[in-house]
Amino acid sequence: MTPTLPADHRELISDLSGIVSDYPYADPESTLAVLAGDAAEALGREATPQGGRERTGYTILLHATCWYVSARIFSKSLFASYTRVLEGFRAQLDRASCTCPAGAHPAELDSEYEVEAGVSMLTETGRAAFAEDYGLDPEESAVFDCEGFLAGLADEALDRLHEAHQELFGGIDVSHLDAQFVRDDGRIDVVAMQEAISRSWEDNTGPVALWSARRWLTGQVRDEERIGVFLCLWMGIAQSYGGLPPSYARDLAAALATIDLDVTCEHRQHPWSTADSTVQSRYRAVVHLYAPDDHPETPVPAELSARELWECPVHYARLAQEALKDLQGWRTMRGGDDEDWED
Ligand SMILES: [Zn+2]
Ligand SMILES: [Zn+2]
Ligand SMILES: [Zn+2]
Repeated sequence: MTPTLPADHRELISDLSGIVSDYPYADPESTLAVLAGDAAEALGREATPQGGRERTGYTILLHATCWYVSARIFSKSLFASYTRVLEGFRAQLDRASCTCPAGAHPAELDSEYEVEAGVSMLTETGRAAFAEDYGLDPEESAVFDCEGFLAGLADEALDRLHEAHQELFGGIDVSHLDAQFVRDDGRIDVVAMQEAISRSWEDNTGPVALWSARRWLTGQVRDEERIGVFLCLWMGIAQSYGGLPPSYARDLAAALATIDLDVTCEHRQHPWSTADSTVQSRYRAVVHLYAPDDHPETPVPAELSARELWECPVHYARLAQEALKDLQGWRTMRGGDDEDWED
């Protein structure tokens, strides 16, 4: 009789496959938190044969899913659980015990295959089913339990998590942008900032937004540069569709918090409302404002182009409100606890 996986393990394979292929249908944050929790329990069963099977299965599964924790979910507690369990397994694994012939360890595994292998390794039945499905002989199956192989996976996953933790929650240095955005006379080159944002393939929106926010917060912005820098901040936020991590969002939120939202004016309309419909028209509106000779076309009609309208406190308040809504959306999209998003 063909061995089959228990139903809950079949479901786990399909949930985790969705996550590693970046099309999750189960909630990724809670699914992966449960996975890390189950793995932590298995840590204590290392001395038993079942504990050994689980160590193999969970090490493979944490390795397969760690990229998602590193890139898609901004949760410090999930990072901490992953790191703790992986370090726990790693401490039990002796790389030197490996006696496999060179090249015997499975390498460059496709992550959906890794998910299937990992879940299958958790139980004896799963192992039998997996060996049959992939036509593995006993030697090929045994390699999955090799401590050298598993230690390699754990190390790789831990390195990845460590690096990502800094990128998501640590301090991001954008001071190299001074050289690109500050002219010799100390004035800010808003056109250069806009051009950087428009090179979307370079992933500049986050760094430009952060640079703008820091400049804003330290008061290194002249009066005539204020709206330009603020719009670069705004566009950096509005055009970071996947959401930026807390390492960015903290300073962006602080800069937005300097704007008074409780303001009124007599104006019927403000300039940005005629510019913000597309990425292209935003760009044209801002570069025209700072270099009208080089960029004669703008979506902003003449009757709305008075500097007084650009500088109106209500204009700033509307922009800030929209950007704050985006920041809130990132939290919902990426998860994590509220503290993870604050200092
Ligand atoms: Zn080995
Ligand atoms: Zn106004
Ligand atoms: Zn808008």
